[in-house]
Amino acid sequence: MLKIIRNKLEQGCKTSGYPKEGLNLYQRYRGMPIIDPQCSREIIEQCAALCPQEAIDVAEKSIDLGRCTFCGQCAGVADGAFVRFSQNFELATARREELITTGELPELAEHSSQHFKKLFGRSLQLRQVSAGGCNCCEADTNVLNTPFFDLSRFGIDFVASPRHADGIHVTGPISRNMEQALVDTYTAVPSPKVVIAGGCCAISGGPFSGSEAIVGELNRIIPVDLYIPGCPPHPLTTLHALLSYFK
Ligand code: SF4
Ligand code: SF4
Repeated sequence: MLKIIRNKLEQGCKTSGYPKEGLNLYQRYRGMPIIDPQCSREIIEQCAALCPQEAIDVAEKSIDLGRCTFCGQCAGVADGAFVRFSQNFELATARREELITTGELPELAEHSSQHFKKLFGRSLQLRQVSAGGCNCCEADTNVLNTPFFDLSRFGIDFVASPRHADGIHVTGPISRNMEQALVDTYTAVPSPKVVIAGGCCAISGGPFSGSEAIVGELNRIIPVDLYIPGCPPHPLTTLHALLSYFK
């Protein structure tokens, strides 16, 4: 017992102060894009030609964060003349079309459903469904349960049974093999329920887009309430999304 107490005193509290305190992300982190609307069409065309996700719309000078993998290729063109990436990890939106951005996203808190806040503001139980994901989205969601993020201090937990859940958090491009299992899980969650699409695979098919083996967009089979972009989304992006939307 004395050993445990000494250990505790030596190690101190490992939990981050977020959201009360800010967090410094590593320098290479790519968050919200900063887009220069004055950039020449020629440079934007070069960015679009390089983009493996076809996420750049040259005419609209926009990036679809639902498709973007944040690979950074576009930021290397002409020294970031069209787009650079900021450290802003607040990327989630309540509507799919809002992820198509020219440099700004609406405040998620303003768009969030008061209905869900009232229902799940004090306690939110989610069932995670990996529908063909590469395991990075899943791993970076799992990280939220470590002492550093300590998701359960906000009253949010991942549970084993959909019967005990208030909603599902879906990752992966929805492989055909997982489609029925996903629908069954969704059906098993009692109403009212929420659906969260985590990562560009669940939002748009991501790098697997166009494959015959996937369904692709989650909102083609069930209605999505919250979109969290990234490949994978940083744990802070997911945490910010959950707190802004439900708390
Ligand atoms: S960072 Fe996004 S928009 Fe830029 S090239 Fe990569 S996938 Fe395309
Ligand atoms: S969004 Fe990226 S990290 Fe997540 S499952 Fe798809 S490929 Fe993997």
